Amino acid sequence: MALLSMALRTSIARFRVVRGTVSNWDVWKQAPGWLAFALSCEFAAVALPISDAVLFPRRGMDLIWLAVLLALGVGQAELSARIERMRRWMSGETHINMTSVWYLAGAVLLSPAVVSLLAALLYLHLWIRVWRHVRARPPHRVAVSTAWALLSCFAASAALRVTGLGPLDVGMPSTWRAGAIVLTAALVFESVNACLAAAGIYLYGRKRSRQALLGTWSDNALETVTLCLGGLAALALVYQPALVLLVLPPLLMLHRSVLVKQLEVAASTDDKTGLLNALAWHDSAQREYSRSIRENRTFGVLMADLDYFKRVNDTYGHVAGDVVLKAVADTLRGQVRDYDVVGRFGGEEFAILLPGATEPGAITVGERIRLAIADMAVNVPLDGMHADVEGLTVSIGIAVHPAAGDTLEKLLLAADTALYRAKSAGRNCVISSTQAP
Ligand code: GH3
Ligand code: MG
Ligand code: MG
Repeated sequence: MALLSMALRTSIARFRVVRGTVSNWDVWKQAPGWLAFALSCEFAAVALPISDAVLFPRRGMDLIWLAVLLALGVGQAELSARIERMRRWMSGETHINMTSVWYLAGAVLLSPAVVSLLAALLYLHLWIRVWRHVRARPPHRVAVSTAWALLSCFAASAALRVTGLGPLDVGMPSTWRAGAIVLTAALVFESVNACLAAAGIYLYGRKRSRQALLGTWSDNALETVTLCLGGLAALALVYQPALVLLVLPPLLMLHRSVLVKQLEVAASTDDKTGLLNALAWHDSAQREYSRSIRENRTFGVLMADLDYFKRVNDTYGHVAGDVVLKAVADTLRGQVRDYDVVGRFGGEEFAILLPGATEPGAITVGERIRLAIADMAVNVPLDGMHADVEGLTVSIGIAVHPAAGDTLEKLLLAADTALYRAKSAGRNCVISSTQAP
């Protein structure tokens, strides 16, 4: 009896610990819309393949293809694990995953339930070998992107079944039909994946620009190249199996070239705010300046300096000050167009390049930024608790080409002088260099 009651007490204590741990998970703090979407995707990613496995018989070659693709996927991940870890360290946001080579090959060759299993196993392997060691992404984000991969694979393979086109099979003549199978699977895979990722990013709610939702041009080019290699891998497996090994070298080179690109981005980024650093901003400004001269267009430069920022540090500490700087950077990005170039010049000073802006246009942007910053409430850590930093203000100086100067240096000087005048005029205001004192 005593033993039973001790076992019961131990179980209750364990349940409390687990319940406490689960309720502390970061996932519950996310926006309800995102949470509902993520849980629905995860539910569908489990329920659809299970229903498929129950309702449809497994095809003869399924397990052989599964084993081959799993071996290739694990082999590729092992060969590129170091590079992949570095990529993840540098950018928690990277969503292009080169394992999709094997997902597409799987969608072309396997039934929906089995390709979903392949995606789940390859994700699990990547998580154990790479992502677990890199804390750039919370586990709930990894779980939902696994669900998206599973659903994209499932949809691509199911589309082949529904249309009666596929799957690709040994003995099938290599006619237009083989090409149509690969193309259909790639289109469905990419469309479903892109829609799920865009909906997820939209609901996650931090970034809503077209580029954030749909990825950059080079993200999409990389995804296309990966899918091409996936199509070739599937065709090779069916018609000349040994040739599938030829897919590995370009895939590994692709990994390297993406790493180089990410290193370039890291070298031009201010790591506290994610904006361009002063050098990279200056480079962009120089390029934009030359283009504007060639095309006879105007362009504006906006310099912003937070008012009395030292007080924020003195009151809440430097760590909190850094959180505020990051939040200000996000606000600045949110108030300008995708192609306006935002940089951190150092300290609490920011510069924004406004291609094509006229003086009234640049002043409107300045005022919008000033009001958005005054509206901010930044939640910062303070003595093991949290506090809201409010009442931030900013002084802004503006200079527009050609009225304010005919070289970039003169424009920067004019914007800086206007900023100094804004400070002298009592701060929390926007002043253009051509405005009368
Ligand atoms: P003003 O209105 O005249 O601009 O006053 P201010 O206090 O903002 O200006 P000042 O230039 O005197 O001080 C800037 C302060 O910004 C000093 C420093 O404590 C803070 N600062 C600069 N860089 C960083 C940083 O990277 N992190 C944090 N937390 N604070 C920084
Ligand atoms: Mg300041
Ligand atoms: Mg300053």
